[in-house]
Amino acid sequence: MKSIFVTVGTAVALAGFVIGQNGPPPGTPLATIYSSCKVPNTVALTFDDGPYIYERDVINTLAQYNAKGTFFLSVQRFPRCPFRYSSYDRNGNNWACIYDDTRISAIRAVYNAGHQLGGHTWTHADLTTLTWDQIHDQMWRVAEALLRITGAYIAMFRPPYGSYNNLALQAIKVRNQSAVLWDFDSLDSDGATPAESKTRYDQLVARHPSTVLALNHSPLNNTVFDVLPHALSVLSGAGYRFVTVSDCLGGVPPYQFTQAPGVKDASWTC
Ligand SMILES: [Zn+2]
Repeated sequence: MKSIFVTVGTAVALAGFVIGQNGPPPGTPLATIYSSCKVPNTVALTFDDGPYIYERDVINTLAQYNAKGTFFLSVQRFPRCPFRYSSYDRNGNNWACIYDDTRISAIRAVYNAGHQLGGHTWTHADLTTLTWDQIHDQMWRVAEALLRITGAYIAMFRPPYGSYNNLALQAIKVRNQSAVLWDFDSLDSDGATPAESKTRYDQLVARHPSTVLALNHSPLNNTVFDVLPHALSVLSGAGYRFVTVSDCLGGVPPYQFTQAPGVKDASWTC
């Protein structure tokens, strides 16, 4: 009889363990969501969906205005990309991995130039379609990659498509990150022409809000070489300062910790 009770008890305990591993601990709070900057007269330019081939171009352009940006990165090019980005370059690099040497080099250049890095899931997944474990996997792979490459353990995350639910916010919280959305969208990944995106920036400047948290996409040729220079020019002319999301929020830490970057080995694979 004793052995039976032990067996039943063990089974119950295991069931509890399994359930506990597949959902948030009871009472887990929701992550903080930042949709706007807080420090007056700041603009946080954010760049989603890299790394691709334009990161160095972006930071060179930002440097002309002494501007800092924030890059929300994925690990692997995502399947929707060729369809989502009509102007996406189809030169064979679309499906590159974040651990490719050129990507590592570009990410280190971004980080070393003082720009902020954040996560954007491994495969640009819609978090609301994922389980608890899948959300963690998607977030961890990016955090791990950026930790290996730069030594920085990220503290901010942008949910793809701006899509999230309470489960996602609990996972983000458990990972000690916050969610970053935006209050201005150049619509560059939603079919806007460069002229239309530039007009949106002009209209933004005309409204002259106290702060701007702007969404842009660094894999887009038109964004990098046409819209971004215009945005920097008109926003600079209006007197704004260009800072990271962390700084525009008044100094919310950009990273959980920083250490020396890692050295690439066979484990750095997508
Ligand atoms: Zn995205």
